[in-house]
Amino acid sequence: MKKTTRVNHPPAVDLPPDNHPVVAPIYQTVKFQFDSVEETERYLRGERRGFYYLRSSNPTTRQLELLLAELQGRDDCLVTASGVGAISQALLSLTSQGDHVLCFIESYNPTRYLIRRVLGRFGVAHTLLSIEDLAGVERTLAARPTRLVVFESPTNPVTKIADIGALTRLARAAGALSVLDNTFAGFHQHGSFDVDVYLHSLTKYASGTGDVMGGAVIARSELIGAMRNDFGALGGTLDPHAAFLILRGLKTYFVRYRAQCASALAIAQRLAAHPAVARVHYPGLPTHPQHALAAEQMQDFGTIVSFDLHGGAPAARRFADTLQLFARSASLGSTESLVVTAQMMGARELDADLQRLSAITAGTIRLSIGLEDLEDLLTDLERALARPESQQR
Ligand SMILES: *Cc1c(COP(=O)(O)O)cnc(C)c1O
Repeated sequence: MKKTTRVNHPPAVDLPPDNHPVVAPIYQTVKFQFDSVEETERYLRGERRGFYYLRSSNPTTRQLELLLAELQGRDDCLVTASGVGAISQALLSLTSQGDHVLCFIESYNPTRYLIRRVLGRFGVAHTLLSIEDLAGVERTLAARPTRLVVFESPTNPVTKIADIGALTRLARAAGALSVLDNTFAGFHQHGSFDVDVYLHSLTKYASGTGDVMGGAVIARSELIGAMRNDFGALGGTLDPHAAFLILRGLKTYFVRYRAQCASALAIAQRLAAHPAVARVHYPGLPTHPQHALAAEQMQDFGTIVSFDLHGGAPAARRFADTLQLFARSASLGSTESLVVTAQMMGARELDADLQRLSAITAGTIRLSIGLEDLEDLLTDLERALARPESQQR
């Protein structure tokens, strides 16, 4: 064999059968082969197990899928290249022309865009309600056949809590599939509810370090099986190296999530007592209007703390610009703390009435609490809150 050939066919290194890596290796390969064409044909006819082409599956992405399904308490999972990829592929796969989808004002902006603008172009109708309007949900589901009820809890950014028990009961009774984007609550929460499909951005708590993107759709195997071919054809495959990084991140998921929640609660309490703050939105505070519902549904209340400043948009800008430990950036669930203002979140396509229902004000700030020392974060926040007064003097 010439060296020009050898570099393309390097020596194989096989582990002895009783010798195993402690951390599963990254299968950074698009293609797999079987020992014969006959076995390849059997695989392609679905008569044997194995791997053939990454867009269909790969041992590293499959390991992540099996782990996520178990964490969320379902049988199966499909991972995708981003959270939005999981949402768009699930929505496209689960709907057909003439279907009706129920969705909510308080949804993640790209989700609302996908349902209204993209599915709308393919003849899928929608109704947009507030997540607090259960009577409206009941009316809508009684009035027209509905394929999907797509919702989130807690919602972004003001942490409204969806009544998951009521929504899933109403959806089930009407023959609609319930689809819960569970990114804010994480993989260990809401699993006992009768939710048909869970969506997740792995970019957030799963990776934890904010350096890799991914998404997941988790459901019973019958539903995942029905979506699998469409996902292969839509093509938003997660790369094995990204899957490996997300698997690594998940090892510390529980300790990170719980430590960040503990800091979030302490920060919410401190903000609630501050004179510059008009209102704090954190489901773990007894003053949150849905604290009782949150306590029934969740063990951990999340790492997002939102609040409204008395001084409106100028005060919000000044506050966010003064912070030193919070990056002025999107996303959440990473080990570094983040801050966004209402203007940065911008649900721009909602009219004034819908904006009012969404409960976002010009002075709304959203904090994503990281793993920094709690006292350092509190000091930074108090310094930034104190600044407007000191400027007036
Ligand atoms: C971030 C986020 C997404 C999208 O995830 P990406 O990985 O950024 O594509 C979807 N839903 C919610 C609730 C999110 O916070």
